Amino acid sequence: MATDGTVVIVTGASRGIGRAIALDGAARGWHLVLTARDAATLDDVAGQCLQAGAPHVHCIALDLSSSDGIAPFFQQVFALHGRLDGLVNNAGILHEGLLGMIRPEEIDRVLAINVKAPLMAMQYAARLMTRRGAGSIVNLVSIMGSRGAAGLSLYSASKAAMVGATLSAAKELAPRGIRVNAIAPGFIDTDMTRDMPEAAHAARVASIGMGRAGTPDEVARLAAFLLGPGSAYVTGQVIGIDGQMVL
Ligand code: NAP
Repeated sequence: MATDGTVVIVTGASRGIGRAIALDGAARGWHLVLTARDAATLDDVAGQCLQAGAPHVHCIALDLSSSDGIAPFFQQVFALHGRLDGLVNNAGILHEGLLGMIRPEEIDRVLAINVKAPLMAMQYAARLMTRRGAGSIVNLVSIMGSRGAAGLSLYSASKAAMVGATLSAAKELAPRGIRVNAIAPGFIDTDMTRDMPEAAHAARVASIGMGRAGTPDEVARLAAFLLGPGSAYVTGQVIGIDGQMVL
């Protein structure tokens, strides 16, 4: 596989949508830097990416509930590659709980992983991308960030925050040639949705016009479009991928 040296970071690459984005990028010949907490699973994904065509895959285990590791992570990426072309802020956690039941420490944890970490990653990525005057940042948000659902106040708040961050950063970074877009999935078949109670799962699927959950591969193809040259003039967009989910 010919490679143009494109370097892409995917957070939350050990499972689900992040794993699919990594494998899709590997088939395009991208150099990958993969993160998640679970180093063993990440190593398995790295092996699959090498088989799929990635010239290099680096795995860096990182717990994004603390921001301490984020600056050293980007220093390591720069030391390894000397450039950065793409960042996919994919790692995230679901929180389900009625408004009155949400504990302050849960708010801290969800906002740390779903907002603080991707916001800081955008800061460091933008610095590296500015060196080449080009780059693409893709943030995984959610249909819940604009539509909401009972029991998802905290999760929806975190995703809405990243919609705002995407729109603002896109305006700020456009003059530097850096594009910032968000993907807003509806209901995708991953651990995050498989863990739901059966009745709730069935109710969500019933709310989708196309009658089925999306697949991680379908989201990965959209991410690849936003990372690649085909979307060179696309920035500041929040693109839904939900099979016409009605909430
Ligand atoms: P998933 O299957 O639960 O995978 C989540 C990924 O994030 C894993 O790789 C996990 O790796 C990583 N992660 C979780 N906590 C972390 C932490 N503290 N530090 C570092 N990494 C952490 O989720 P998914 O369904 O693929 O979702 C991916 C993104 O899409 C999320 O931002 C999610 O909110 C968004 N989204 C998903 C859906 C859906 O229907 N699935 C819908 C809308 C939006 P480790 O456990 O190894 O750390």
